[in-house]
Amino acid sequence: MVGGGVGGTSAAVTLVRAGVSVCVLERTDYSPWRPGETLSPAAHAELRQFLAPEPLETEGFLVSYGLEANWGSERPHHHAFLTNPYGCGWHVERRRLDLQLARHARALQVPLWERSCVTHLEREGSGWRVEATTPEGPLELRCEALVDATGRSAQVARHCGVGRREEDGLCSVSAIIDRPSSHTEHLLRVEATPLGWWYAAPLPENRFILTLLSDVDVLEHHDAFRPAGWSALFASTRHLAGRLGELPEVRRLHVRRCETSRLERAAGEGWAAVGDAAAMWDPLSSSGILKALRTGRAAAEALCSTLGGDSGALERYADERAEEFSRYLSMRQANYALEQRWAGEDFWRRRLGAPSGLERN
Ligand SMILES: Cc1cc2nc3c(=O)[nH]c(=O)nc-3n(C[C@H](O)[C@H](O)[C@H](O)COP(=O)(O)OP(=O)(O)OC[C@H]3O[C@@H](n4cnc5c(N)ncnc54)[C@H](O)[C@@H]3O)c2cc1C
Repeated sequence: MVGGGVGGTSAAVTLVRAGVSVCVLERTDYSPWRPGETLSPAAHAELRQFLAPEPLETEGFLVSYGLEANWGSERPHHHAFLTNPYGCGWHVERRRLDLQLARHARALQVPLWERSCVTHLEREGSGWRVEATTPEGPLELRCEALVDATGRSAQVARHCGVGRREEDGLCSVSAIIDRPSSHTEHLLRVEATPLGWWYAAPLPENRFILTLLSDVDVLEHHDAFRPAGWSALFASTRHLAGRLGELPEVRRLHVRRCETSRLERAAGEGWAAVGDAAAMWDPLSSSGILKALRTGRAAAEALCSTLGGDSGALERYADERAEEFSRYLSMRQANYALEQRWAGEDFWRRRLGAPSGLERN
């Protein structure tokens, strides 16, 4: 398993429960910031099932009651989770969530190496030889199959020569903001603007994350990668600025590429990609964690079938990912089509046509 995020731990736990011996290499010690803060009710249900019989530790997380969106009109739309059969969602501290999943994998005797990075991959017979650096020194492993859970970089797939198809040039620019405790919020707020869209999500410990999403060239043009430019754009929002009030001075921005994209093939001989490595969905879907959990499990099941002699299992897994992505693209297009107020602006114009390859400027 290369990568110990949600997708990697989901695959590792599924494999180990099926009696397959696994090892996870994770590049970080789970301390770097990473986005993905809202668990939908369906993701919460999936996580509970994944961790069972352990409960999901929600201490420090905030219950999420739903979404308020200014999207397609000046009037806000409300989407409450209260009537959802899975109950409410959660606003989570992502590092804490990933650490919890890593602890769960370790409790099932999965060796999970933190601060360990693959330096060399090579096919050896029908399996792989892997070299990695670890805090204890170099490591050499031999395995029958690899799971690419490296997120957007999809390093195993890239090593296998598999290309990535990008649908847009979306990028997120976020700031973490402290707020007075009297302002505790439980709603995710979304606002469409002429140059892209914003979301504000509560975080534990009286903070919230405020993110602007647009295409890289649009963000550059509007000076959104510098705190002063980004703050001025926020101040010009019609709804969020009023709702959230004046911000303290923003000094640090977190930038993440989050283009909607997929691998040309999510699996091949002796490997399968999961989570963001296989496909990235627009953060508008708020489904990345759920998708990583589900594809981690599905890839692990396909690998178990392959080890059991089913030679078509990985191919079927890859076909399913391609079909799922094309269904997702139609949904994404329908969501963006709800917003027609700025159809002539670059960001919206690019999303209101039929899905195609990345438009280059
Ligand atoms: C701005 C933004 C907001 C989002 N909001 C939400 C949200 O509200 N809800 C939601 O569900 N999703 C959200 N997402 C999506 C979500 O964050 C991702 O879909 C999810 O993190 C994917 O999990 P993953 O395990 O596939 O990849 P990742 O979380 O990226 O994990 C990959 C892991 O692999 C490790 N790694 C990488 N390379 C190597 C290597 N060579 N060797 C070893 N380890 C390696 C990394 O350190 C990392 O731990 C958001 C995304 C963005 C960009």
